[in-house]
Amino acid sequence: MVRRNTKEVTIKDIKIGKDHKVAVQTMYSDPLPNIDDDKGYEDLLTQLRSWATMGCDIVRFSYPNSLHKSLFEKLVKDSPVPLVADIHFDWKLAIEALEIGFAKIRINPGNIGSKERVKEIVELAKEKGAAIRIGLNSGSLPRSKRSMARDEAMVETALEYISWFEKWGFYNTVISLKDSDVESTYQANIKLAAKCDYPLHLGVTEAGGIITAVARSTWALGRLLSQGIGDTIRISITDECHHEIIAAREILRTVGLEKGGVTIVSCPRCNRATFDSQAFLKAIEPKLMSYKTPLTVAIMGCQVNGPGEAEHADLAITGIGNKVFLYEKGKMIKEVTFESALSELLAKIEEYEGEQ
Ligand code: SF4
Repeated sequence: MVRRNTKEVTIKDIKIGKDHKVAVQTMYSDPLPNIDDDKGYEDLLTQLRSWATMGCDIVRFSYPNSLHKSLFEKLVKDSPVPLVADIHFDWKLAIEALEIGFAKIRINPGNIGSKERVKEIVELAKEKGAAIRIGLNSGSLPRSKRSMARDEAMVETALEYISWFEKWGFYNTVISLKDSDVESTYQANIKLAAKCDYPLHLGVTEAGGIITAVARSTWALGRLLSQGIGDTIRISITDECHHEIIAAREILRTVGLEKGGVTIVSCPRCNRATFDSQAFLKAIEPKLMSYKTPLTVAIMGCQVNGPGEAEHADLAITGIGNKVFLYEKGKMIKEVTFESALSELLAKIEEYEGEQ
């Protein structure tokens, strides 16, 4: 696939755009610990580390006030991935986030303060080597553009803000155009991609729970990515963040933009199952996302399709009768217990991972 040729944008130690990999993002959604809560802080770092291991490249935090300034001051240094501050309405918070070391801020220049204030933010970002995402949602466009079609309005508004940034000599910019309407999101990105060479952050906003979000995002983002459009993505899901990372990586793998890692084959489970493939997958899936070795792993509920899928997989766990078996390269290698199946499978995967 030929990727769209874009400028290169630096976000701390990662680069996006050009021929760099499509970066996966999520947004932190839980309450933050207080600065004196050492355990809460360690838990937060552990969370970020686990997302990084699962393949998340960038994490965004809301920055609605200065309440957690000291916490973020520490976190931007300790985090295993670059952090982004999401700021609305108050230009002073954008200045504060840049001062304390966020690698990138996300703003809508139309709702953060006057053009002069936006200029101050941009100049500080330049001085700090930070990136800025111009993030536009169709619901927060300038009044003057509200009579236009939503996709056209987003594109025109983005081009206007880009021209401000360029006039001020700033190019470390990423653009996102999001709409809760999938087609409008798709059209806006197609049109903007033809009119500028800045990296695009893709996502469908307010996309709902896992099922609706993944369906809508796959349809909109899959078509864009398969045309080489899109440099970083977030699958917005009303659920836990690790689902967003898994969904993003799976979409990238499905369109051929990410290679390697574990390909999961699992049966849906039915009332014939003697092994609970559903519960097993739920327990193991986040861990499976952390492996780099290209392996097909089958997780099957019974002998109807279990042995057949196990034959084609690198590793498999399947119920057969009242027993559970571990397969390797199509051969049954041992019987395991319901309790040990997870650790046995992980131990086998680690052997392959160790050979990489
Ligand atoms: Fe049902 Fe067995 Fe097929 Fe799984 S493999 S869906 S348990 S018949």
